[in-house]
Amino acid sequence: MIAIPLDKVRNIQKAYQSEIDMQRQNALDELNVLNSEKHTVVDKEYLEFVISKFENQNDNILLWDLNRIKEEINKIDFKNVPTEIKNGKTRKTGIKDKIIKCLGYTKLRSSFYPNYFNDIGIKACVYCNSQLTIVANKKHAKFEVDHFYSKSDYPFLSISLCNLYPACASCNGTKSSKKIEFELYTDDISKTKKSDYKFKLTSNSKAKYLVTRDRNNIEVEFEEPDYKSNEFAKFNDVFHVEGIYKTQNDLVEELLIKSQIYNESYLNILKSSFYKLNLNPEVFKRIIIGNYTEDIDIHKRPMSKITMDIARELGLID
Ligand SMILES: [Zn+2]
Repeated sequence: MIAIPLDKVRNIQKAYQSEIDMQRQNALDELNVLNSEKHTVVDKEYLEFVISKFENQNDNILLWDLNRIKEEINKIDFKNVPTEIKNGKTRKTGIKDKIIKCLGYTKLRSSFYPNYFNDIGIKACVYCNSQLTIVANKKHAKFEVDHFYSKSDYPFLSISLCNLYPACASCNGTKSSKKIEFELYTDDISKTKKSDYKFKLTSNSKAKYLVTRDRNNIEVEFEEPDYKSNEFAKFNDVFHVEGIYKTQNDLVEELLIKSQIYNESYLNILKSSFYKLNLNPEVFKRIIIGNYTEDIDIHKRPMSKITMDIARELGLID
């Protein structure tokens, strides 16, 4: 629900430079092994197109940002995944899955991505912010990522870091190959300082709740920015954001109660009583509302976005 500065991402990529170089080299080696096997003409042609993208060590495909990726996709000689007709249906040939396997995407989910995204500061789904991006299976916790450019259509981008959007399993599943406008990594500081999305109480939610003390009277709505083109789907339509948060009115209820308890004079008493703890102001506010309080920290914890938006609306934080 907020973009991350590309500068920050580039710095973290620099810290992992040798590991990322190795990932490109391993992928290239595996692709070359695959290429030594027997293929149909179209599969071989596609495979060689993919290999050419991994050969340049000074222009590591894993480090391409979104603009660079778009540039490649728009090139005249760009090749689509080959298709075949089976049982009367057109489908992509098996070369797609073989390429993804060569790139080592599955292995990276339990090895590299948890550390890399932890350093970037992403632990919560970048789409719904309601769940973690980790899925546990029998042996390892795996990092769940959505591919901005789907791995089905663009298998060669399956490990390019700026194509990876950490997401919960539910959002990853519902998004599938739908197109959304939200870009996670950007140089545009207007997108990285403040979220374009907003949760707010419906107009008489607060009053109704305060009179009845019935949390079923609490309703939250989700506002999205105006999208440039109608080629993009709305967050709410793709990820069912309002539906997810409808189930969380107990959280909003707690904030409403907190806004009554933690009035200005009580907050001042707390601050002066516990000055010896030497808490920085953000930590103090975080303790009060029970989650992060600043937009730049949204990805650090599930439910932070709704918590900070409603807390702001209620005057618990500024
Ligand atoms: Zn999600």
